[in-house]
Amino acid sequence: MSPGRHNDLPWRLLTMFNNRLQIERANLTSLANTHTNIPKLRAGFVGGQFWSAYTPCDTQNKDAVKRTLEQIDVIQRMCQMYPETFVCVTNSAGARRPQPALLTGVRQAFREGRVASLVGVEGGHSIDSSLGVLRTLYRLGMRYLTLTHSCNTPWADNWLVDTGEDKAESQGLSHFGQSVVKEMNRLGVIIDLAHVSVATMKAALRLSTAPVIFSHSSAYSLCQHRRNVPDDVLRLVNQTGSLVMVNFYNDYVSCRQEATLSQVADHLDHIKKVAGAGAVGFGGDFDGVSRLPVGLEDVSKYPDLVAELLRRRWTEAEVRGALANNLLRVFEAVEQVSDHTQSPEEEPIPAAQLQASCRTMYGYSEAPSLHRQPGALLASLTTVLLGLGLL
Ligand SMILES: [Zn+2]
Repeated sequence: MSPGRHNDLPWRLLTMFNNRLQIERANLTSLANTHTNIPKLRAGFVGGQFWSAYTPCDTQNKDAVKRTLEQIDVIQRMCQMYPETFVCVTNSAGARRPQPALLTGVRQAFREGRVASLVGVEGGHSIDSSLGVLRTLYRLGMRYLTLTHSCNTPWADNWLVDTGEDKAESQGLSHFGQSVVKEMNRLGVIIDLAHVSVATMKAALRLSTAPVIFSHSSAYSLCQHRRNVPDDVLRLVNQTGSLVMVNFYNDYVSCRQEATLSQVADHLDHIKKVAGAGAVGFGGDFDGVSRLPVGLEDVSKYPDLVAELLRRRWTEAEVRGALANNLLRVFEAVEQVSDHTQSPEEEPIPAAQLQASCRTMYGYSEAPSLHRQPGALLASLTTVLLGLGLL
């Protein structure tokens, strides 16, 4: 059994059914035209899953927070509707620490034969540049946050900066971006570097006091796509005890429209060679991509990849690591580093770095008052103009 891979079924539930789980076509035991349904999960011996709470970049500065909340809600409703299959968990623990029913950990779910279901939020735009939103998403169960999707946030740069399609704005992480990483360490949220620029990867790897993950990224030296991880970063992954979970999307595996299971195994072999057997995992990206390798068409095919690794003389311990144990080790290290007795990060993002004209600026200026001092009025006017990018 194996947890950890990145899966976009919740996004498919939104686009196919507008998140209605009770209509017949949305029945997860018979769901067709997806890479993921309950029989396929069973056939693939999937014991754990990070479900992606994803909302596209065009929601940035608009309804990203609302849509993220709705995707977390649909994941939680999946757990409620199919309790014999899924159990929503928020920690790595087994029976070592007694937990109330709702707080069952990953290892406990394994023992019960249910799919340990975790929430990963895919894209820093989902926090809308707010540490308060970050903390609230943590309380709702978010256990990893991908610092960007395929767009810059006001505080972190995405991979399109490395292709020249986007401009570098934060040179990796801005000062506020560094606060986000520190707060994730303090809370116990895994930092996910899939989709970010190389400068952001390096900045986060340097700053984070806990290991990080790439939830669905492959090896750049085998396929020169900027979504993949270059070898110098793989060496940092090794030094920090971090983890790269290989993406199965053909375009990142072979840099072509076609790919094979064997080529996915090549990526696993390469990451193992450069970063170590403890640094490699399965990233999947099922239901998030349009083209998958021959032999890895849906989540039921994971055992075939395991067979290929064993054929390549991976030891049983190495395979178990890639399937589950490497991610559990990172998750446990992130939990160890977290410290809720530390003071939270409080400094808001500077007003001038916030975008979008429909935004209110409460907190950045004094509330309007009849007794306002002329100086204060000037100060708040300056803030507003800064916010609009006019100064
Ligand atoms: Zn993605």
